[in-house]
Parts: sequence; structure tokens; C-alpha cells
Amino acid sequence: MTVAVVTGAANGLGQTFALALARARYRVAGFDVAALDETENLVEAAGSELLPVRCDVRDPESVDAAVEAVVREFGALHVVVNNAGIYPPIPFADTTIDDWQRIMRVNLDGPFLVTKAAVPHLRAAGWGRIVNIVSAVVFLGPPELVAYTTSKAGLVGFTRALATELGPDNITVNAIAPGLTHTATAARTTGAHGGFERVRDLQCVPRIEEPEDLVSTLLYVCDKGSGFLTGQTINVDGGSAKH
Ligand code: NAD
Repeated sequence: MTVAVVTGAANGLGQTFALALARARYRVAGFDVAALDETENLVEAAGSELLPVRCDVRDPESVDAAVEAVVREFGALHVVVNNAGIYPPIPFADTTIDDWQRIMRVNLDGPFLVTKAAVPHLRAAGWGRIVNIVSAVVFLGPPELVAYTTSKAGLVGFTRALATELGPDNITVNAIAPGLTHTATAARTTGAHGGFERVRDLQCVPRIEEPEDLVSTLLYVCDKGSGFLTGQTINVDGGSAKH
């Protein structure tokens, strides 16, 4: 069986991704700083099982222990979905160096640490899929998200360079760029005060993006048959950015 890790699986997109992979018969571990009970219950209700691992993706020791726990439980690791991320809207003039570093630590150090811990296991398995959740902001460059956009653009660079390095090992590395998507965090932040509606009106598909809109792309990229797709950033935002 194919084994997948989804970071940030307690809420939002990560929860939907963990559930979708479990439904597609992957064995799934969810990493999060928050409690994973809700995701565990949803996966169980779908007739599968989630391995819940409390893990802070900014912390090397926590990440190494979490990846070891997965391999101990499932015997292998093939797929890593680097989804945990934060996106607080802050005007550039108000962005402190602490804000900047806080965002970079979760959004860039996190994928670096999780991927670094996972790669030896993907190599040992003889193939692997690394999927980095970026954002359509890398194409659109909206205001009040300068640090966030920079972090996700960095993750696109990580995706491209790592794809080159890991190609000979049958490990693909791709990014998926969601548009503004209806999660509880987005509703409190970027989607608040008419944000969802403003973004909807820029899209070709005139409705608010839901986490489920990303599932078919995730499953396609993770599929063992997608071994020739690598180094790409797939934009799934209803067509607001066309590239
Ligand atoms: P969310 O806040 O609902 O979920 C993020 C999860 O990551 C939470 O469960 C949180 O506890 C976890 N997390 C945060 N810091 C962590 C850490 N240090 N270690 C481990 N887990 C940690 O967010 P979401 O809206 O589902 O977004 C998920 C991802 O998708 C993020 O990377 C985000 O940047 C990206 N994204 C979201 C949207 C959107 O509109 N929702 C759009 C584009 C990209």
C-alpha cells in the first residue's frame, strides 16, 4: 500500500487532502500542531484509518520523530504533502522582522525539514511524490501578503530545484497553487470583508473555491502513474491567474 503524510491535516485543505487520500486507499498519517481528532473521525467514517502525529514542522526533532513514527507504523513512506502553512494579512509597512520570520519558518523551513526527513525513505521505496501546496498569489501578487507571497514563491523554487535533484530517484516534486479557498482560516482572514467575493469576480469560474476543488489535482499528482510530471506548479484557482 502507498503511504502518505499530509502536514497541517487537522484543518482546512490538509484535512480534505488526508480524507481524499484515505478514500483513495492510501495509508495516511496527518502531522499537525493541533489535535487531529476531527480528521481521525472523518477518515474513520470513510472506512479507513489515520495515523495522527502531533508535530511542529518548524522543529527538526519533532519532524524527525514524526517521520520515524510513520515508517515504524506503516513500514514505508512514498508521498509527502507539504500543506501546513500560515497566511496572516499584514500591510508591508506594518510587517516586522518577527512576522517575516514566523511566516518563513512555517511555510519554508517546514517543507524543508519534512522533505529532508522523508527523502531517504522515498529513495528506499524506489519512488516517491512530494507535493508542495503554494498559492495563486505567486502569480497575482496581491497586497498585504508580501511575506506570504515571498514564502510561497520560495517554495516554487524549492519545487523546481528539488525536482531536478530527485528525478533520477523516481521521485517527483510538484506544487499545487490554490486560489482563495473556503476554509475556516481563510474566512477569518483573507476571505473576510468581501474577500471571497472579490476573488470570485476575478475568476473564470464564478463561484468560491472549495477544498474539494483541489482533490482531483492532488490525486493526479500523487498517482504512481504520474512519474513524468515533475517540477511543475499547477494552478487550480478557477482561472484568475492564467500562465
Ligand atoms: P488552515 O489554517 O485551515 O490549516 C493549516 C493547518 O496547518 C492547521 O491545522 C494548523 O494547525 C497547521 N499548522 C500551522 N502551523 C503548523 C506547524 N508549525 N506545524 C504543524 N502544523 C501547523 O489553512 P488552510 O486554509 O487549509 O491552508 C492550507 C495551506 O494551503 C497553507 O499552506 C496555505 O498557505 C495554502 N493555501 C490556502 C489557501 C486558502 O485560501 N485557504 C489558498 C492558497 C493556498
